[in-house]
Amino acid sequence: ARELSRHYHVSRGFLRGQATVKALNSVSFELAPHRTLAVVGESGCGKSTLARQLTMVETPTSGSLNIAGIEVATASKAALRELRPRVQMVFQNPYASLNPRKKVGTQLAEPLLLNTHLSPAEREAKVRDMMQRVGLRPEHYHRYPHMFSGGQRQRIAVARAMMLNPQILVADEPTSALDVSIQAQILNLFMDLQAEFGTAYVFVSHNLSVVEHMADDVMVMYFGSTVEYGPNDAIMNNPLHPYTRALMQATPVIRAADRKARVKLQGELPSPMNPPSGCSFHTRCPYAQAQCKAEVPALRPFAGRMIACHRVEEVAAGTAVPNA
Ligand code: SF4
Ligand code: MG
Repeated sequence: ARELSRHYHVSRGFLRGQATVKALNSVSFELAPHRTLAVVGESGCGKSTLARQLTMVETPTSGSLNIAGIEVATASKAALRELRPRVQMVFQNPYASLNPRKKVGTQLAEPLLLNTHLSPAEREAKVRDMMQRVGLRPEHYHRYPHMFSGGQRQRIAVARAMMLNPQILVADEPTSALDVSIQAQILNLFMDLQAEFGTAYVFVSHNLSVVEHMADDVMVMYFGSTVEYGPNDAIMNNPLHPYTRALMQATPVIRAADRKARVKLQGELPSPMNPPSGCSFHTRCPYAQAQCKAEVPALRPFAGRMIACHRVEEVAAGTAVPNA
């Protein structure tokens, strides 16, 4: 994806004017087989908008989204029909994506029914094979979703998403609704399936422990833009953007946060109807200066990652002094 943007035109209440909300602002990344990109940020940062572009539920306003060599914006309807099944999604709440009135075996066979010419017997064989891979038992084939625990339901949802062997799996907080004891099992399942099928994952999460465990690359988003993007190690061990540091500060288990200057997140996300000038983080950043309010910081390479901060050199050197 290159300079991917998604803007929404919204009416501004009684003023009746039109405003443009930049939900996604020139976001770029690459994703290869066997790789996991974690997209991190608070709700409202653009994560879900990004997921909707990737799953082709929405089309980007501008920029390039190229999946498996196909340019989504200019692809024919037929090409898009081919492409859509190659990107699958797993949601936070597995129950919402399952039909309570259909048996598990029937639901898992549906993607095959819609997208392949397999015989009923071949479909059943494939479903049973996938059920086994995700840790479900043969007798689960004839059961209904409500007969399962949350963790098992997420296994069913993952199996369903994997039925067509997608190239990309977008997982939106896939474990945050589960008991902590179950979360690790489901994360390990994701990792096993990736090792086996080579699926590229986009993991949308605000849970930095999950991110640290799962990701090859990490993209931190704030207010629709990428503020820091690079290898998991670089970002988790040495977060440099003040916003990344603030997120880690809020996650007690992350060790890096203790060694680095602490950044406390102050205030709320700005209103998308009224975006801040310059660096969109300046209203909450303890290091904000006049330049931060005036100029949008470019995303540029620094210390093995891409980062958008005017003062990254000083932050990295530990010489940036927080505002009182
Ligand atoms: Fe903070 Fe300025 Fe860097 Fe934005 S550009 S993160 S306001 S120091
Ligand atoms: Mg991997």
